[in-house]
Amino acid sequence: MASGFVVSVRSLSWLIPMSSDGEVVSTSGESDSPVGEDHIERAVEIAVATRQLSYAPYSQFLMGAGIVGHDGREVRGALVENVSLGLAMCSERVALFNAVAEDLSPAVLAVSSERTDGELTFPCGACLQVALEIAGPDLVVVAVDTDGQRATSVLRSLLPRAPHRYTPRTAPDQPSR
Ligand SMILES: [Zn+2]
Repeated sequence: MASGFVVSVRSLSWLIPMSSDGEVVSTSGESDSPVGEDHIERAVEIAVATRQLSYAPYSQFLMGAGIVGHDGREVRGALVENVSLGLAMCSERVALFNAVAEDLSPAVLAVSSERTDGELTFPCGACLQVALEIAGPDLVVVAVDTDGQRATSVLRSLLPRAPHRYTPRTAPDQPSR
């Protein structure tokens, strides 16, 4: 599983180098993340803890999310299912909506869950689309499994050509983007 993980990391053009166990080992060079390691660690802690609060009696797929804002404030989200299945809501979208309600500008989003088909589980496409509008393409996204292994990426790598609308928070600083 470890070797498969490395392959998946390379194939997705991760911007932050990692060791084979998924730890971020360096943020040097042009691909530097503007987000500090402390923000990433805190988001992961929140996601892991919040996963236990999930309400998932139908799928048993517990998932938690943690967001740390550029100002260091935090919000969280837990997966919530319902007997009317279509009403379920992903943990990461709950956290993103909480960020809006708290007027928090997300810098890093971490999600914690079991792997999916052997791979770390990143946010679903719908949640990435929501994240793009709320947090912008530079959002750091971290997936953590139940053993603590993780991978880090940025939203623009996970959802490179999605329809988008810039907001005052997410407008690019540089015209070349
Ligand atoms: Zn989702």
